[in-house]
Amino acid sequence: MGIVDKTNETQRLKAQLEALLFNAHENQKKLERFEAIEFKLMAAESIEDLLRIIGHDYMHLFKLDACTLLLEDSDLSLRRLIPEATLESIEYNFLTLLNFPVELEKLQYMSSKICTDTYQSSKHQWLMDKPGIASIAVLPLIRRGKKIGVFCCGSRDINRFQSHASSDFLQRLSFIMAVCVENALNLERLKQSTFTDPLTRVRNRRFFDQRLPEELNRRDRSRTSISCVFLDIDHFKSVNDNYGHGVGDDVLRQVAQRVQGVLRTHDVLARYGGEEFAVLLPDTGNEEAMMVAQRIINAVNRSRVVVDKNVLLSITISAGVSTIESEQCFEDIRELGLKLLASADQALYDAKEMGRNRAINAGLLALTSSIDVPDTVSGHN
Ligand code: GH3
Ligand code: MG
Ligand code: MG
Repeated sequence: MGIVDKTNETQRLKAQLEALLFNAHENQKKLERFEAIEFKLMAAESIEDLLRIIGHDYMHLFKLDACTLLLEDSDLSLRRLIPEATLESIEYNFLTLLNFPVELEKLQYMSSKICTDTYQSSKHQWLMDKPGIASIAVLPLIRRGKKIGVFCCGSRDINRFQSHASSDFLQRLSFIMAVCVENALNLERLKQSTFTDPLTRVRNRRFFDQRLPEELNRRDRSRTSISCVFLDIDHFKSVNDNYGHGVGDDVLRQVAQRVQGVLRTHDVLARYGGEEFAVLLPDTGNEEAMMVAQRIINAVNRSRVVVDKNVLLSITISAGVSTIESEQCFEDIRELGLKLLASADQALYDAKEMGRNRAINAGLLALTSSIDVPDTVSGHN
């Protein structure tokens, strides 16, 4: 081999080595990006967190032009589980909860393997419906042999996801994503059962007591009003005494539904004790809160509660209302919460004294309140 040939060969080998090093370097960077996103997915503390990571962070980190997540929801349980605000805040078209039989069938019969392909609307539109997508990666999410959903990545670049070119990266991602989605949903289920009253299905006192300081802090920052309505069913003991506890339970469920029915989605209704409910009304001044309380009272006594076709009961409820107006400032949020509740509770007591089936207004919270703040707010007997 001549000197020129040797030099050419050396240059060729050098170029080859550089190309290999470049590829290795690129793969290393890709792996690091994958690891970063995997850690984020695994650390997600709520379903909202997880959906943001998948729908936003992942898409931007990997320069995708679209991504979609479809989750099996044959019994509509996810629709109830994922908070309304989360569903509303999700970018249109990113998340689909599959519950139509035809969609569920497609999910069931799609391949369990990762599929990369040029985009064809006849085949892929139900998975991703975005103009300009030229290639797609379809990652089935499988847990214990069951397809719980599918995650799709779309690119305008036709070469991005080539046919039959699925990589180990995507394989790993589909596994991790399936585990993380399942975990986040289970966490949400656990949270909801911890914070839900099993009889009436409205929030429980634990939820209310946790949410109250959060809402008061938010009010402090945004300088808005907040009101509280304390409710207690009138003469409820006589329902139990006359018709038994089963009927009493039924009445509690129906009253909770009627109250929930007149509230906005961001109002917080909780069963605070036996036949007592507390309602937190963010962004609501005193006059408006009194109107809400009256609406609740009307909803409860508008028509008789039907327990079974032989038992129709006239049920009434009493309410106490208290408010912190936007311009009011307080130091101690915990104490403020207790004062707001104690004040509404006192007004409720007055409503009972004055004949029941009415709302009494405690008005604005006094800056130096004369109300004794108990450690916890007790019920009425
Ligand atoms: P008032 O108008 O003064 O509020 O009278 P009341 O009879 O509603 O009030 P009281 O506190 O005397 O009675 C409340 C009753 O609520 C007593 C209790 O047995 C009943 N109760 C509490 N929790 C439940 C429950 O989960 N199911 C049923 N069926 N009854 C309950
Ligand atoms: Mg009562
Ligand atoms: Mg009571």
